[in-house]
Amino acid sequence: MSAQQAVKFLTIEERLNVNAWDTDIYRPHIKIKDPEKCRLCEKKPCTYMCPAKCYVQQGDIVVLSTEACLECGTCRVVCPYENIDWNYPRSGMGVWYRFS
Ligand code: SF4
Ligand code: SF4
Repeated sequence: MSAQQAVKFLTIEERLNVNAWDTDIYRPHIKIKDPEKCRLCEKKPCTYMCPAKCYVQQGDIVVLSTEACLECGTCRVVCPYENIDWNYPRSGMGVWYRFS
């Protein structure tokens, strides 16, 4: 078997599954600044652009849970109201990428 044949390509889901998280439950690193603005936000892009599905629409409000956050910053960029208070987690907390 050649070296090229031995390479196993992982799906995105398989790659994400090898990561680990140490969630800072006492100080979430991302917050929605004003939930009332989410009611006015017509397309709610955070709910479909976040790769970890941290934002879930419930009626006309949005609920955020940061446990599976990949720290990609997409939500901060796509929010049309600049309504996301985004910081990195405290040192040692958050996602641990395990590339193989
Ligand atoms: S994109 Fe921003 S304003 Fe719109 S629902 Fe998400 S957090 Fe709220
Ligand atoms: S930083 Fe990325 S993974 Fe984390 S909540 Fe925002 S979009 Fe989702």
